[in-house]
Amino acid sequence: MSAILMPGAPVADAVLSEARARVEEMKAAGVTPGLGTILVGDDDASAGYVRRKHETCEQVGIASFHHEIPADAGQEALLAAVDDFNDNPEVDGYIIQHPVPDGFDFNAALSRMDPGKDADGLHPTNLGKLVLQEPGPVPCTPAGIQAMLLHYGVEVAGRNVVVVGRGPTLGRPMALLLSNRGQGADAAVTVVHSRVPNLADYTRRADVLIGAVGVPNFIKPDMVKPGAAVVSGGITWEGRTLLPDVDESVGEVAGWITPRLGGVGPTTVALLLKNTVDAAERRMS
Ligand code: NAP
Repeated sequence: MSAILMPGAPVADAVLSEARARVEEMKAAGVTPGLGTILVGDDDASAGYVRRKHETCEQVGIASFHHEIPADAGQEALLAAVDDFNDNPEVDGYIIQHPVPDGFDFNAALSRMDPGKDADGLHPTNLGKLVLQEPGPVPCTPAGIQAMLLHYGVEVAGRNVVVVGRGPTLGRPMALLLSNRGQGADAAVTVVHSRVPNLADYTRRADVLIGAVGVPNFIKPDMVKPGAAVVSGGITWEGRTLLPDVDESVGEVAGWITPRLGGVGPTTVALLLKNTVDAAERRMS
């Protein structure tokens, strides 16, 4: 492997230590920020992600709240949990862990959330703010990837960024974020997806290539421009094995690459807590 590895941990640590300092200030003023999670169904990976979010809250001093909805409980049970967090003054921000099982309407539940408490930045109002470049919570995984690129000195301004995947939680907001104005942005972004023929013709021109697909090892070395920065945002669990979108052998061609384990995940959690602290500060002001 000749590429420089881009682990997420140092970036997450920096975000979390700033969040911790802000939480201490808030606690001194009598306010404890609170994060809520809603877990629907019994998917092991989702349960693991939620557990990690609560553990990280504890490390930073954020109170955490949780609703668990059985897979057969139906949409009304999910909406009741949303209403409860909307009404709970101790919850500054919350998430509905996605994906939700068949039979639940994730978008309808998202739209029912108080947009001021949307810690994932996925409520239509907040995605609209991202389009309009107004302040608001930014989706955590794209924001974490942007923070990683900044941290590792990967320039995106004016450069050719290709995002593979146009999903609402990752590919679409990633493209918006990097093509917006500002630090760590101003890129020329192309989004490709399953309806694009000869996809490698696009990816081979990328200075920064971001996998947002969810297909294991989708990005191979012959799809990558030598020296490019390659980020695996998409991940797939096969049993207990985590498989990123980017094949490990891409490390022989790329200039920078996220590691198979400990890549984007820790930054997603850190940005979620930052969004919660931002929401708590808005409540105080
Ligand atoms: P999604 O809505 O299912 O989007 C997947 C995208 O990949 C779609 O745009 C799809 O194209 C494209 N795609 C699928 N197969 C393809 C192929 N063979 N060739 C080209 N494009 C293909 O998923 P998402 O919610 O955006 O999430 C994407 C990935 O990010 C998932 O692996 C998810 O686990 C991961 N993720 C990770 C984190 C994290 O914390 N690391 C957070 C959020 C999401 P079409 O639109 O044409 O169908």
